[in-house]
Amino acid sequence: MVRRKVDFVIVGQGIAGTWLAYELMKREKKILVINNETENTSSKKAAGLYNPITGKKMTKTWLADQVFAELESSYKQLEILLRAKFLYPKPIYRPFTTISEKNDWTTKVEDPRYLDFIEELKSETLGIGSIQDNLGGIVLKKTGYVDLSVLISSFRDYLIDKGQYLSEMFDYKALEFVSEKTSYKDIEADKVIFCEGPSLANPFFSNLPFKLVRGEVMDVECDLSHNYIFNRGVFMIPKNGYHTVGSTYDHNNLSFEPQSEGITKLKERLSKLFAGSYRIKQMRAGIRPATFDRKPFIGLHPKRETLGIFNGFGTKGVSLTPFFASNFVDFLEGKTMIETEADVQRVY
Ligand SMILES: Cc1cc2nc3c(=O)[nH]c(=O)nc-3n(C[C@H](O)[C@H](O)[C@H](O)COP(=O)(O)OP(=O)(O)OC[C@H]3O[C@@H](n4cnc5c(N)ncnc54)[C@H](O)[C@@H]3O)c2cc1C
Repeated sequence: MVRRKVDFVIVGQGIAGTWLAYELMKREKKILVINNETENTSSKKAAGLYNPITGKKMTKTWLADQVFAELESSYKQLEILLRAKFLYPKPIYRPFTTISEKNDWTTKVEDPRYLDFIEELKSETLGIGSIQDNLGGIVLKKTGYVDLSVLISSFRDYLIDKGQYLSEMFDYKALEFVSEKTSYKDIEADKVIFCEGPSLANPFFSNLPFKLVRGEVMDVECDLSHNYIFNRGVFMIPKNGYHTVGSTYDHNNLSFEPQSEGITKLKERLSKLFAGSYRIKQMRAGIRPATFDRKPFIGLHPKRETLGIFNGFGTKGVSLTPFFASNFVDFLEGKTMIETEADVQRVY
């Protein structure tokens, strides 16, 4: 017997499920979030960085102009709603490694395509503690980090308050398809959207070409006082009395336990950025839900239109999920198409 009717059931409340639920609630949809509570999620292990200019070649990330236009204001709105603090805008300082890199940036600072994201070029060392920046560096803006653990637990409390949260492992066998709707136990929903991160147990989306990546992060205490996120080989994010250092990338050994080779790599890279001593306070590892082409999987099941997926945010969950939650809900309301490169239909 069906006792509860909702527009959407959302399975999983990491950063993806959180943004999708919030976006649907803003549009007055009735939702229910079903989440398996565990510390081993991608979001709870993440460093939380957002940065529009990345990679060895330091180019603008995919869709940077659209994604970063509203990013900080979206998180701020959510902070207001939840009465919580989790957004920390901070400039990224990236020391130059070679003269030619410095020369490249001297040209790039004049490039109108980069103007929105560059604060200034420092042609000499900033002389901050033991930071290795003999050639100076570039200061980026529209950057910072989000404390995902605080965001996720605050949003969970908000949902519980509204009676829109169930703490359980979704049982795929309990799904039934009745005409245009779907029922799950005593719940009837127009659609069930899976936001399950790297778990990959879902039989309805079992053959998607995910390419999961393990990563390590460590929190270190050291003598360094400033407001920059440093980024060269690794990043160092200043937090309350310590720095978060990350991350590694490994497609093998997909474990939520830090691996010694990962920590060794982190330490090696850190030594090139920071020559001082430090004490490791904590190490953690997680798995990123990355995909074969580094683009998310968003959309409806090709045969069962009552099932959908919002996953595959890889290394960029913080910056991509607010933008794509809005894009996906626009699509669900029949207003627009899903961004072609992110549409799950590309793999069917
Ligand atoms: C070490 C590391 C560092 C990272 N650093 C950054 C960074 O600095 N910046 C950045 O943007 N990204 C970073 N990422 C990537 C980021 O963490 C991910 O893109 C993002 O967290 C993915 O979120 P998600 O909601 O898809 O998955 P998850 O956070 O894993 O959430 C999925 C949720 O679904 C639940 N679930 C799964 N299956 C079921 C089921 N059957 N029933 C009920 N619930 C279910 C899980 O328990 C979980 O709560 C990092 C990742 C790692 C591992």
